[in-house]
Amino acid sequence: MSSPSAVQRAALIAPELHGALLAWYDGVRRDLPWRAAPGQPANAYHVLVSEIMLQQTTVPTVLQRFGGFVQRFSDIDALAAADLDDVLHAWQGLGYYRRARGLHALARKVVSDHGGALPHTVEGLSTLPGIGPYTAAAVAAIAFGTPVLAVDGNVERVLSRLFEVDTPLPAARPELRRLADALAPSVRPGDAAQATMELGALVCRPRSPGCLTCPISAWCAAQAAGRAADLPLKSPKRERPERFTIAFLVRRQDGAVLFRKRPPTGVLASMVELPSTRWSDTPQEPGAVIASSAQAESRSPVAAAWHRVPGSVRHVFTHFALTVTVLRGPPDAVDVPSSEQIWRRPDAFGSLALPSLTKKVLAHAGLA
Ligand code: SF4
Repeated sequence: MSSPSAVQRAALIAPELHGALLAWYDGVRRDLPWRAAPGQPANAYHVLVSEIMLQQTTVPTVLQRFGGFVQRFSDIDALAAADLDDVLHAWQGLGYYRRARGLHALARKVVSDHGGALPHTVEGLSTLPGIGPYTAAAVAAIAFGTPVLAVDGNVERVLSRLFEVDTPLPAARPELRRLADALAPSVRPGDAAQATMELGALVCRPRSPGCLTCPISAWCAAQAAGRAADLPLKSPKRERPERFTIAFLVRRQDGAVLFRKRPPTGVLASMVELPSTRWSDTPQEPGAVIASSAQAESRSPVAAAWHRVPGSVRHVFTHFALTVTVLRGPPDAVDVPSSEQIWRRPDAFGSLALPSLTKKVLAHAGLA
């Protein structure tokens, strides 16, 4: 564990270290559409949207989606005025739709409680929906020049190595936060925050740290001790629980497929899926499910001669994995009027907010 002297050392070396880091960053910084040109003020809305998109999604994927999103919802007012369904639709391809719902709720709160202007401080930003400690610090530093170092996975790795932190992650997080606070940059805070993240992504890589070309190697304890690639230490991962469900592919004679909307809270909230049984901890037998007369959520949506699509679909969420067995009915379902039913022909699937799980299930059934 880093001693109090590690925090003192961090404060001591901060000015020189940031000087070296910023000089390096000025030479390698990537032009990204949400990044302000050198010396120009940042667009706070663009910074916010990009930071939320970049949680759990890579830069190349965000680059494909960012422009279209900010063109469709050009500022926080436009986003707040939009329907959630439209926001979810524009989020397709980025996954983790919880972020889109959080961003939409955030926009509405900023408009209703803050007159449409984002708070400038870490504390103010932290009160908004969908904003965790990392995003609050990143937006405060990059958009508003607050002297704070945002700690993402890349920065955790750099700090663990720089100060040779032996506490495994995630238990090391409070210690890393103290070191980050001691290193908080007073000069060009936004660039310093991005430079540290960029160093972690491009040089201080997880498996093969590029110590020979690293601009801050002179201050790095792990490099001096020959332990760079061994840090950060990590606690053993817990096994991911398994869940199971059966999805029903119901088609009309014109080819349209029956979908439904998931509940407004919980996993994949408000997203569109095929009618399915309740997700359970044990595998479900298709024969028993079809015959079941139990609750509606654990039986087939219509009476039909079902055929199992060979194989299954496995989808990994953050906290569990789901295995989906797909049953296909004959193409003669009738359109029963119901507000919960959504019928779409395959050439119009694009008009729905389909999460990747539903897309995988459709592909498995030969429909995508
Ligand atoms: Fe990372 Fe090596 Fe640089 Fe240390 S010297 S910060 S381990 S790349």
